[in-house]
Amino acid sequence: MDILFSSLNYLVYSALAVFFLFVSLNSFRDGYTRAGRVAGLFSLLPALICFFFHGWSFFHLTGPVFLLILISVPIAGFRDKLLLPERRFDERDISFSRYRLKPGSENYTSYYGKNPEKEESDKRTRALPGLLAEKSRYFHRLNSVAADARFFLLNQLRNSVDGPVAKETGNNSTREIADYLYSTAIDDSVSIYGTASLKPEHCYSHVGRGAGQYGEEITVNHRYAIVLGSEMKPRITATAPMSPEVVETGRRYVDCAVWAVQTASFIRSLGYSARAHIDGNYQVIPPFVADEAGLGGFGWSNLFLTEKFGPRVRYSVVTTDLELPLPNKRKKIDFLSFCSICRKCATCCPSRAINPDSLEKLDSDRCFMYWNAVGTDCGKCLAVCPMGHPWGILKTLALRSMPAAWLLKKLDDLFYGKKPGSLPLPGWMETEK
Ligand code: SF4
Ligand code: SF4
Repeated sequence: MDILFSSLNYLVYSALAVFFLFVSLNSFRDGYTRAGRVAGLFSLLPALICFFFHGWSFFHLTGPVFLLILISVPIAGFRDKLLLPERRFDERDISFSRYRLKPGSENYTSYYGKNPEKEESDKRTRALPGLLAEKSRYFHRLNSVAADARFFLLNQLRNSVDGPVAKETGNNSTREIADYLYSTAIDDSVSIYGTASLKPEHCYSHVGRGAGQYGEEITVNHRYAIVLGSEMKPRITATAPMSPEVVETGRRYVDCAVWAVQTASFIRSLGYSARAHIDGNYQVIPPFVADEAGLGGFGWSNLFLTEKFGPRVRYSVVTTDLELPLPNKRKKIDFLSFCSICRKCATCCPSRAINPDSLEKLDSDRCFMYWNAVGTDCGKCLAVCPMGHPWGILKTLALRSMPAAWLLKKLDDLFYGKKPGSLPLPGWMETEK
């Protein structure tokens, strides 16, 4: 029996050393040098413990007991408390759409006639310097122009989301086409790929800023959707809310827009209707479709989180009538249980748009106002989220077990800081403003 415990004990300590080494190497790779150094030191800890305590009579029990504690208490279910929309969102209500309303115009008068409570705060937002603007707090000329260039390309792509459908469907089965699409996505380095059945509540109800007449009712007749996600680089995201963040946002929106426009065009050429939904021209709300596809779940920040990248992903969607294989009913990932002991996004949010005490809807107006003051899309809630850090298997455990969740939060605070500052701009961005 002692041999069994002693072998298991040394196995646990060796696994801990390997784990911290893995975290250290990945943290250095992602540009988190502080976390890399601390994790490197922690990787030596198991060897030191074994060296000092191996003669202690209960020592062989410590590893198995640690393992048992780590997986013993399942985390409380929080998922049911997340309110997915009961009715469709109106795109006219989102901050971006309201921001574009021209004072005195017919749309302006009509919108604020129905929503007078929003007019004053929207006026204050319009009075701020604005995204990428010269007078904004984190303005950086080259980064601002670089981000603008990416949004220029996105703007061109916005006109290519739909097109004519080939008359013939050809000999390929829908299964063959779907498999081909999946393999192409992997080959194109798409970070997140999923398929879902499309439901009315995944779609906006009326046009606010996308293609079509402002206020027009949106009808999406497609039954299927493909979700395409592009991971934002951790090193750049960690500069948030400074200017590199918005350049990275633009880059990732372009990535997934290109994938979506190509995918939709490919499907249409094979005789099935398809439309790409890309930044600035959505008829669907990508996080809802990603949730339906079982790719992750919502976090306290109201952002959509995946187990691999946390919130550091930008999405596009392709809707289609091509029949797609849907994932088997997977148990959806419950991030909110971990969030209930974490709430780091709320603590670190510079505009206090995320309520630390209750899982209420994010105050998106407050967040958007902050963007227009600093000139970037902030992204602090993406940068600090432990689910976006390279914790590997500990993330998987933390989403299922309470002691593991507690341990992950403590380690994340220790390695990255309770309120992490922004990483400096990469050297090649350090230019005269
Ligand atoms: S920072 Fe913490 S609380 Fe916020 S979304 Fe991420 S895991 Fe949840
Ligand atoms: S909610 Fe908005 S202001 Fe707050 S951290 Fe996230 S992006 Fe920044």
